[in-house]
Amino acid sequence: MTLKYKTKGFVFKKNNVNESDRIFSVFTHDFGRLDIFSKAIRKTVSKLRSGIDIFFMSEIEFIQGKNRKTLTDTAIIEKFDNIWQDLEKFKTANRIGEILDNFIKGEEKDEEIFILISEVMEKLNIQKPFRETINQPIIFYYFLWNFFSIQGYRSEVQKCAGCHEKLNPYNIYFSGKEGGIICGNCAKSKKNCPEPCRRINSDIVKILRLILSKDWQTLSKLKIEQSSQKLLSEVSENAIHAFCPSIMHYTIT
Ligand SMILES: [Zn+2]
Repeated sequence: MTLKYKTKGFVFKKNNVNESDRIFSVFTHDFGRLDIFSKAIRKTVSKLRSGIDIFFMSEIEFIQGKNRKTLTDTAIIEKFDNIWQDLEKFKTANRIGEILDNFIKGEEKDEEIFILISEVMEKLNIQKPFRETINQPIIFYYFLWNFFSIQGYRSEVQKCAGCHEKLNPYNIYFSGKEGGIICGNCAKSKKNCPEPCRRINSDIVKILRLILSKDWQTLSKLKIEQSSQKLLSEVSENAIHAFCPSIMHYTIT
């Protein structure tokens, strides 16, 4: 007997295989990551193709075979149209997809991750008047740091991750390896500093605190200076390398 399953999920990767087949990587509500084989989906007559594509939230039905899962039915839940019409939004979705692909390898249900993905994609899809447009990277960072947090790598941003003392805003560092923000004394005592420690400023502390407390209202109105944006990108890379050493060349641009 073949077992049939139905769930909903966010498609974060697609790979063409054979002449007209495709493998979709989907973060599903009920099973976590699934890599699902879709037979002949690239043929124009395929009835499956309209319901699933990269960055769709789709309802999917599949059967579990001996070696793989095969897609049997699809329906669109949300297409996130604006992401497809805006290159910057599309790039952000791509980065989110890359993180999911690199960090989540096996099947494991995780409601929190599913909710975070849905929340971030909805935020990314909102189309605002030009002047109100929030900067795209902050949506990615919002995803990234909260994703790490759910995965068990919540960064300490309130006090020094090394000695647990109060932070002096003029002498602070970030070290993914140490688990967050560290004070000048702790940074000095690390033999391997200045790498992988990175000197930061109080803007970064503020941004990370807002991200981890999920205060989107304040975050979306924040004007972030270019120098702090660069710093935030470096600190995020530092964290990615500390939490997932297998990603050697991940660069946030
Ligand atoms: Zn310290």
